[in-house]
Amino acid sequence: MHADALVVGAGIAGLTTAARLLQLGLRVDVVDRADEIQAAGAGIMLHPNALAHLDHLGPGLYAAGRPIARQITTDPDGTASVLDWAAVWGGERLPLAIRRRTLSELMLRHLPADSVRWSTEPTALNQGADHVDVVFADGGTGRYGVVLGADGINSWTRTYVDPQVRPRYLGHLYWRTTVETAPPFDFDDWRIWRSGGHFFGGMPIGGGRYHVFLQAGLADPRRVAPELAYAQMAAIAATMSPAVEALVRSLDPADSYNVRPAQGLSVNRWVDGRVALVGDAAHSFSPATTQGGAMAIEDTSVLADELARHGVGPQALAAYQARRQPRVRDFSRMARLHGVLSSAVQANLTPGRTAGGATTAGSAAWFRRLYRPLMEAA
Ligand SMILES: Cc1cc2nc3c(=O)[nH]c(=O)nc-3n(C[C@H](O)[C@H](O)[C@H](O)COP(=O)(O)OP(=O)(O)OC[C@H]3O[C@@H](n4cnc5c(N)ncnc54)[C@H](O)[C@@H]3O)c2cc1C
Repeated sequence: MHADALVVGAGIAGLTTAARLLQLGLRVDVVDRADEIQAAGAGIMLHPNALAHLDHLGPGLYAAGRPIARQITTDPDGTASVLDWAAVWGGERLPLAIRRRTLSELMLRHLPADSVRWSTEPTALNQGADHVDVVFADGGTGRYGVVLGADGINSWTRTYVDPQVRPRYLGHLYWRTTVETAPPFDFDDWRIWRSGGHFFGGMPIGGGRYHVFLQAGLADPRRVAPELAYAQMAAIAATMSPAVEALVRSLDPADSYNVRPAQGLSVNRWVDGRVALVGDAAHSFSPATTQGGAMAIEDTSVLADELARHGVGPQALAAYQARRQPRVRDFSRMARLHGVLSSAVQANLTPGRTAGGATTAGSAAWFRRLYRPLMEAA
């Protein structure tokens, strides 16, 4: 046997899976078809249900990111709703905003040197009674106890496990970048300006950087050419409010803007014998929930737990699917509710909203109800 497990993909799911399995004393190979870490897309919010499973990264995780205490959403008339994240999560941990590349580098640093074999990918899997034989694009081969597909929303491994599934466009497109923390992007909070089905905002992510994004509700998800990314974002911002237009004008058009459609995915079959899917390969939700990465991290914890309980083989993978699927289905329902609540709460259902002022009680109660099932995992 080459190793106990092959992990396909070195994103959040793959790197966390590798760390968990190594903690169990298993031998793990990780391959990624990219040349290096793929951490496009500026910053990421790690909610307490993700942080609860990342203690192996140590205090360096918290030193590298920024805790976010409040989310302030402003409508075109200046009316603001304030969400108090401590009240929502009800614990000591606040959500942590961090640069994606910083997070991935930290995850990689906590693995033994050369844990990831870059620039290669599997091209064939053949299951035997007690192993999986894998052929790689670079001509190599390997024999593993299990193969774990952590290869993202367009997963190759999924074509082996559940070939019919295709991601679907969720009706919004995202622009993301990071800028130096400096006026006007120097708020301590997570700020969102909302108008006409579009959301513009940002938050500090540590290291003197600030994450900036536009979520645009667009029926047509056509990709934007990199050289047109800023221009199209600015055109949408101009339809939102003078405040948003001014914020976007202060960005540098020459910066790099990551543009991605929001895609959803529901996969019925996560496991085929000794092959299993983890993270976005198995499920994907609207980015507006800021929970896709957290769900991937939770997957890895449950997977490690079941491998420890049952040993490396199909029984552990079946138990992993049985535990994770109901939670992911529940969360998918919550993700839809999140979309409805996010609009409703900030439109006119928040009790005691004040123009340009603050109210925490109303929206925190709504969101606490929404997030309560997530707290159980945290
Ligand atoms: C706009 C946006 C904002 C988001 N914000 C948040 C947030 O704030 N909080 C949060 O928790 N989540 C957020 N998410 C979701 C989160 O980014 C994803 O859920 C998470 O990155 C999934 O990680 P993953 O490792 O499963 O997949 P990926 O990050 O896609 O990693 C997959 C890896 O597999 C590699 N790979 C692909 N195919 C192959 C192959 N055939 N062979 C070998 N390697 C392969 C890729 O190179 C890549 O390194 C957001 C998503 C979007 C789009």
